[in-house]
Amino acid sequence: MDRDNSFKREQTSHSHQHNDCISKAKTRFLERLRERGKAIGTNDEPVLNLLLSNHGIFSAYDIAEKISESGKRVRPIQIYRSLEKLINLGLVHRLSTMNGYIACFEDGECATGQFFICTECESVKEIDSQLLDREILGSAQENNFSIASKNIEVLGLCGHCQHTSN
Ligand SMILES: [Zn+2]
Ligand SMILES: [Zn+2]
Ligand SMILES: [Zn+2]
Repeated sequence: MDRDNSFKREQTSHSHQHNDCISKAKTRFLERLRERGKAIGTNDEPVLNLLLSNHGIFSAYDIAEKISESGKRVRPIQIYRSLEKLINLGLVHRLSTMNGYIACFEDGECATGQFFICTECESVKEIDSQLLDREILGSAQENNFSIASKNIEVLGLCGHCQHTSN
């Protein structure tokens, strides 16, 4: 993944009030920590803040680099630890097709794991289709398949990039 992509990405998330997304997600972060009786680790908040800056994908390397720029040096291994915690709290999702991470901006519990990923600007839209989710669960049952992970990552071009690519 290109390290400079985050600059390009920031321009694509301006079509809505992103501050609302951020404050909602932050409230949820504090709620989750309280519910589960977890303390905030030193890197957890900087990692989350960076992920919340837009709807784009960040690699652990991106995150380590960006956080190190703003002060103390952090290593990717420390970033992975924070990411794992944030994933367990349901605040961050890992996208295996893009080998990266995104903040979750959905309301409530986010269990469907369905994503539209723009391969041009690397912005991600989470969708939450209960219908799709039920189909997968039903089909797994029919096939006697035990699901460990059911992320659906759909790759393509977002509305913005469909008009700008040639
Ligand atoms: Zn937003
Ligand atoms: Zn989510
Ligand atoms: Zn796009």
